[in-house]
Order: sequence, then C-alpha cells, then structure tokens
Amino acid sequence: LSAPSSGSTEIDVDDGKDLDIFDINEEAGLDLVEGDLMISEAEGWNTIIGDQYRWPNTVPYYLEDSLEINAKGVILQAFEQYRLKTCIDFKPWSGETNYISVFKGSGCYSSVGNRQVGKQALSIGTNCDRLGTVEHEFLHALGFWHEQSRADRDDYVKIVWDNITPGKEHNFNMYDDTLSSSLGVSYDYGSVMHYSKTAFRDGSDSTIVTKIPEFSDVIGQRMEFSENDLLKLNRLYNCTRSSTFLDSCSFEQPDICGMIQGEEANSAWQRVRSVPAGPNTDYTNMGKCEGSGYFMHFSTATGNHGDKAYLESRILYPRRGSQCLQFYLYHSGGATDLLSVWVREYDQQNPKGILRLIKKISDGPKDSWELYHVTLDVSKKFRLVFEGVKGTGGSTGGLSLDDINMSETQCPHHTWRIRNFSNLLATTAPGTKIYSPPFLSPDGYSFQVGLYVNGKSSSPDSMAIYVHLTSGPRDDELKWPCPWRQATMALMDQNPHIQKRMNNQRMVTTDPGKTTSDGTEYYWDDPRKVGSWVTDSDGNSYYRGPGYGTSSFLTHSRLKSRDFIKGDDIIFLLTLEDVSSLLETQPVPSSLSPGDTMATSMATVAVYVCVGAVLFLVLAVGVAYYGRKRFRRGDREDSLTELEVTAECK
Ligand SMILES: [Zn+2]
Repeated sequence: LSAPSSGSTEIDVDDGKDLDIFDINEEAGLDLVEGDLMISEAEGWNTIIGDQYRWPNTVPYYLEDSLEINAKGVILQAFEQYRLKTCIDFKPWSGETNYISVFKGSGCYSSVGNRQVGKQALSIGTNCDRLGTVEHEFLHALGFWHEQSRADRDDYVKIVWDNITPGKEHNFNMYDDTLSSSLGVSYDYGSVMHYSKTAFRDGSDSTIVTKIPEFSDVIGQRMEFSENDLLKLNRLYNCTRSSTFLDSCSFEQPDICGMIQGEEANSAWQRVRSVPAGPNTDYTNMGKCEGSGYFMHFSTATGNHGDKAYLESRILYPRRGSQCLQFYLYHSGGATDLLSVWVREYDQQNPKGILRLIKKISDGPKDSWELYHVTLDVSKKFRLVFEGVKGTGGSTGGLSLDDINMSETQCPHHTWRIRNFSNLLATTAPGTKIYSPPFLSPDGYSFQVGLYVNGKSSSPDSMAIYVHLTSGPRDDELKWPCPWRQATMALMDQNPHIQKRMNNQRMVTTDPGKTTSDGTEYYWDDPRKVGSWVTDSDGNSYYRGPGYGTSSFLTHSRLKSRDFIKGDDIIFLLTLEDVSSLLETQPVPSSLSPGDTMATSMATVAVYVCVGAVLFLVLAVGVAYYGRKRFRRGDREDSLTELEVTAECK
C-alpha cells in the first residue's frame, strides 16, 4: 500500500461495493423512515396533504458549504435533467420563505413534499453524489414516496418479511389509496424511487420479489428518471413544457415534426427508409420495425455540382442563448459533398429571417451512422437549417439525417464510440481494461477513460470505469496538481428522444490536495511525474496518471436494457470541466444580510424566522381550515390534492 502511483493505480470511489441509498444510510447509522425519509412527528404525519405540500414550479435552493465539490456539480447536473424533462426549475435562494438547503449530512435523505418550514434540509452525504440518487432525493422533496409503498404494490411485488433485517420492517410501509395517489400511472418497476431486491435484507436472499420475474433486476435502478417518474411529476405539477427542451425528430411521422424545405433550394431532402448506396436502414429503429424506420436523405447521386437542399425546423424560441444540437449523419455521397448547419434568425429588422452559418461538416467517417454534437448560441427566435450541397466528385449516395434533438443544455465535449460491442463482451476477460483515446479538455488537460467491459476480477457482473489524466501538448502551461476538474462519464441511452433517455453517468472531481496512499505524491499531479509511460493500441505513446472511478458503474443486466447497445455499438459522452467556481460560498440573499457583522445578519435572520413562523402559522391555519372545508364539500378541484398524504406513524 505504500507504493507511489502509476498509470495502473486506481481508486474506487465506491470501495468495490454497489452502494444504494439505503446501504449508505445504514453504514452511517441512520434509522430514518423508509431508509431515507426525514419526517418527524412534530411535522405531523397525519395532516391533510394537498397543494400546500407542493413547491412552486421554480424551487429555491441553497448549496451549503459542507457539500463536497463533486456533489455540488452532480446536484447542478440533476437540476439540468429536471429542466430538460419536466417543468420544474431551480433557482438560487433569494429570500423566499421556503427553500431547500442541501448539505452534507451522514447519508442521503429528504423530507417528503414542501413542509413549509422555511429552511428545509436535504442531505447529499458521502457516496450520495450520483445523478440518480440526487434525482431520487429531490423527488421526495417534491412530494413523492417510494414506488413500492403504493397502495397497489402487493399486486406487483411480494415483500419477503422473513428476509428483512429484524427491526427494519417499517421500511416497507404501504400507504392506502386514501392517503397516497399514483396519479393514474401504473406500477413502475423501473422507477428511480423503487427499492432494489436487496434493500434491508438480512443475509443474501431478496426482500422484494417481483411478481413478473423479468423485473427482478430492473427494480432499484438509480440511472435516471423513468418515463413514469416523469409522467407523475409532470402531472403533479401541471407541467406543460420544460424550460430547456426545444425539439426532437426521428422522422417517423410524415409531418416530419413540422420541418420544411427551404425555398432557396434547387434540390430537396426526401423522407425514405433506405438508400441503395447506404444507409440500408434508419437509425431510430435500425430497420427492425415493419412499416416504420424513416430518415431524411439528400441525394447527390444525380444533379449538378452546387445543388442545394435545405431542411428547416419549425420556428423555435430559445430562452437561454446557448443550445446543443445532436443528430446522426450517414455520409454515402461524394468526397466533397457538404453538410452545413445554419440558423435562420428573426428580428424586427429581418422579419423573413437571416441565415448565419454555425458549422460545416465535411470530413467525418463515411458509410456509417455517426453521432454529431453542435453547440449553438442563438438568443432570437429561429429555425435550425440543415443545408446539403453536392460537391464536385462522383457520388452514388448522399447525405442522410436521423434522430435530431435540440435542447438548451451543454453539449458533451467528447464522444467515445465502441463498435462491435457484443464481440468485445464475449471475448474480454474480467479484469481486462480498455482505454479511450486521450481527449483534451477546453482548458488543455489531457485525459482518457479506462473501461472494464466485463468488470474487475472482484466484480465481474458490472462494468467498471475510471478517468485518468494523461500527458498532453499543454502540460507545461497547466496548473498541477490539476485543481477541481469534474469528469462526467456517461453511457448514452440511444433512445431517439432526448427526454426519454436514461443515460448512466458518474462524475468525479480532481482534488488538488489529494495524496497517494503513501503520502509522497499528489494524486492529480502531472502525469509525467505520477504516471507511467504507455503505448496505446493506436501506437501513440504518452504518460498515464492514476485512475479514479468506480467498479460498479453499470451491471450487465442493465447494460443490456434500454438502448445502451444499439447497432452493436455503445457510446460514451465525456466531459472534463472546471468546477472551481463551486468552491465559493453561495451568496446569502442580500435582504437577509444587510450588515457586515455576523451578529447583525444573525439577528436579521432571527427576525425573519420569527416573522416567517408567524406568517406560516397564519397560513397553515388558513390552509387547514380551507382544506377541511373543501374536503367536507367534496369538491376537489383536481385529483392532485390527493397525492401526498400521510400514513400512520409507527
Ligand atoms: Zn428514498
């Protein structure tokens, strides 16, 4: 244990275990309701649940200084998923009466719903810094119980009481349908709110057996919101639109999502199912669905040099001023055929719009569907324009487009596509690591990821993944040890619609103060100093620093679910970005800290708390009275008032 580091050193942030929320909390010695719910009797289990337990659609938050830097980054990423897939948004607390204070407690836990207590705590402790875990805790805060506590759960799962650790039985509470609403959504084995089969077990036998055996390994996923999680959340909060999603099109419907052919063109894009020179199938369905499987094709097999076709989106209304466009392109045309991405921007001076070039794509791989990301910076209403131009050389095919998605999110910096993946799975021994090519972060750090497709020898059922810094062209200008760079390693769910994707991702952050096990070196120091000289399969040589990641990235059974493997390929989305700004304390609302001294601001806070408490009491009495009256009359305004409920306190 006292050796200096090398390129083969690894630190497993999960310590070789696949830790779920309940394992983490148990190790921390917590005994909360249902494992991660913080509900005190004082808060009143049995109050009428209704609108008052809902948050406004934009939830104020405060990230406490106690949080790990990596956790802060993960929380902000989770907020981005809420923004992309629901109408829930989050904003830094600016003095609102009620807000969520996220801190590092001993474990991962939350209250259920808006408890109207002013500062409402939500803990993201050690090992809770995973996207699915953070989404899970915030779903509690937004008003959701665990999926297996639904009133109809006994129709879908069997709780094996004999296998539960004695004294932990209360974690399998169930709420009857006068107390808890499932919002008209059927039981969801794939919910991010469902326990796994191992939750609170005593020994090695399952505590939850799914009535349909196929779902035995589905329950307990912590990748992302399931479609039903989103449906319920969107119903509870009357969502009609998300704040960052703009458009998605797989060209399966003849209306092609409202896209049009540009008027300036002398050629056109065709909606087709195959092209003789390729592709043979679309990307959405890979030709597997009868009567479907369309894509858009611009043929360059005929016509003249310079012929153009424009495929234009419907008019889109950006809010953020920065977008990520993602699409698949199949190039089977001539060597100089060109695809350009433009935007047509509209304003008062240009009511018919004015074109602005974003990117030309001419040198990508040919004869396969390739994934592209393009960053846009549009802040006016606009159309997205795909321009195909026929080049000078001969061609038998052309350019094809499929599975377009546009959102106001950040594009991943790099993609790593592994082809013929089933062969790799079949022939790679556990404990064997393959490496991505080295990539460069925007600020010049070179890095790569190492992947055990069949796991480490100690955990062969699960893919393991580690990020390594590598020596690169700008090492002499960079700061060492590498300070606060967060690596995102996401395995892409290749569902054609970005809002339905359940990517599996892990994030880790470089702490410049971290030392190697023998204390003689900094873990994230210059790879030329702490790494090993390696030559990769492409014949390139460089220094590889030690790795940091997890041996429980994704189980093989989950890997084979969803669209992680599509066309026999998997795609990793990789980013290494500077998160050092997260070291700074989140500002406290200025109205709450008018003075410079601690005493003044403390006193002010105290006053606010008192005023808040009085207001809350008045409000609570009023709401309770109104709620009771309304229930007596039986004129529920909407079914949502049923949700959130309470249960007997055990
Ligand atoms: Zn929970």
